[in-house]
Amino acid sequence: MALEVRPERCVVAVDGPSGSGKSTVSRRLATTVDGVYLDTGAMYRAVTWAVLQAGADLTDPDAITKIALETELSIGTDPQAPHFAANGTNVDAPIRGPEVTAAVSAVAAVPAVRKHLVALQKAVIAAQPRIIVEGRDIATVVAPDADLKVYLTASATARAQRRSAEDATDVTATEADLARRDKLDSSRATDPLRQASDAIEVDTTGMSIDEVVQHLLALLNSKVSK
Ligand code: C5P
Repeated sequence: MALEVRPERCVVAVDGPSGSGKSTVSRRLATTVDGVYLDTGAMYRAVTWAVLQAGADLTDPDAITKIALETELSIGTDPQAPHFAANGTNVDAPIRGPEVTAAVSAVAAVPAVRKHLVALQKAVIAAQPRIIVEGRDIATVVAPDADLKVYLTASATARAQRRSAEDATDVTATEADLARRDKLDSSRATDPLRQASDAIEVDTTGMSIDEVVQHLLALLNSKVSK
C-alpha cells in the first residue's frame, strides 16, 4: 500500500513502551511516505552518553542539566541511516550499549533536560514537511497537533523476545529491564509515558512488521484524504 494522497505536510506521532516495534515501524513508514524519521529516544540516549562521559552524578539533576544544555547534538533524520553525534563524536553504537540503557530513564526524568530536548524536537518537526516521530510523549507533549497519533503496545514477552533478538541478550534479563524502564518512564512527574486520549492503540503482539506498517498506512490514508 502507498499513500493515496501525498500531503504537503504530515506529522505522525508513534508512542509506546520499549520493544513495541516503534523504531522499525516508524522508519519503514517514513520511507514509504517519502518523509523523515525522528528518534527522540536516541536524543535522550545521546545526552545520557555525554552525562556518563563527563562522569556526572546520576542523582544530581543540576549536573545532568548543565551537561545536557552544553552538549551539541547532531540529529540524523534519514530513515535509512539515522546517525547521531554528540559534541562531534558519532554515538550510534554506544547509545545502544548497556551503560546508556541503564542510565537513560534517570536522565530523561530531569524536567530541564526534557524541556531542552522537547524544544529541539519541535524545531526539527517544524522544519520538515513529512515526519514520523517516535517516543513516549510525542502525542501528549511534543506534537499534540499530529495528523495521526498511534500508541503501539505488545505483550511483555513479545517485547522482550524482539529486543533480545535484536541485541543478542537473554530474554528473561531483557524482560526485567524493559519492566524497570517502563515503570520509571510511566511514573515520572514530567511528561510520563501515557497514551494520548485521541491516539489509536495498536497491539502489535502477533503482527509482523509489514502488517503493522500496512495498518498504519491505512490509518494515515484515512486521515490525510479527509
Ligand atoms: O525509545 P528508547 O528505548 O530508545 O528510549 C530510551 C529512553 O529515553 C526511554 O526509556 C525513556 O526513558 C526516554 N524517552 C523519553 N521520552 C521520549 C523518548 C524516550 O523519556 N520521547
